[in-house]
Amino acid sequence: MKPIVIAIDGTSASGKSTNAKLVARALGYAYVDTGAMYRTLAWHCQRNNIDVDDAKAVAAACRRWKTELECVEKSGLRAVRLLVNGCFPEKEIRTAEVSAAVPRVAAVPQVRRWMVGRQRECLEFGHLVMEGRDIGTNVFPETEFKFYLDAGLEERSRRRAADGVRENLAARDQRDSQRAVAPLMVPLGAKVINNSNLTAEQTSGLILKEIRSRLPREKIAEK
Ligand code: C5P
Repeated sequence: MKPIVIAIDGTSASGKSTNAKLVARALGYAYVDTGAMYRTLAWHCQRNNIDVDDAKAVAAACRRWKTELECVEKSGLRAVRLLVNGCFPEKEIRTAEVSAAVPRVAAVPQVRRWMVGRQRECLEFGHLVMEGRDIGTNVFPETEFKFYLDAGLEERSRRRAADGVRENLAARDQRDSQRAVAPLMVPLGAKVINNSNLTAEQTSGLILKEIRSRLPREKIAEK
């Protein structure tokens, strides 16, 4: 059976990770955080003194770095991670410095091509819930299951601050929306959910309801 891909795109701090994890857990699908993959490259560049505004140098770093994909199970969630030199820099990629650098590396066309290749390889782990900025438009445009999450800027900034991170979300969204290759946009046919006034359970509930209404029962590998 061909693996099913649930694509969840949206703005920064719109609840993509929380909801993608809830949906992946409920369905028993593997969860893929593509933002973490771009963050890992930005972190790798910073660590190796590669100027993230030098597109040629960033493309060269992306060609050369030693990476592998792995799927690990933790607290009932199967999650796919990109390792660099055998390690997953889980905490290191969540700093304000990495957040500011990542849209710059993500705008490099060769980087995006490389990332799309790795992200499509994730099919080896079975059915997927993949979150990012271009999953429904560019990575898996063929999937029937596309969602786009958003919330008001004030609410999103409040959520990010509650995570202990202060950053200019509007500036990051603007960079992501205005880049030439695979900009952040609502994928054609996506169900748009503004969750400013919704809890994560309500948001993931809407996503699951939509998936279940369209997926034949035998294709839902529910736990
Ligand atoms: O989702 P997260 O905030 O971790 O994403 C970090 C950044 O990675 C985004 O702001 C964007 O620049 C980039 N990104 C992307 N395409 C994706 C996922 C993330 O360009 N599919």
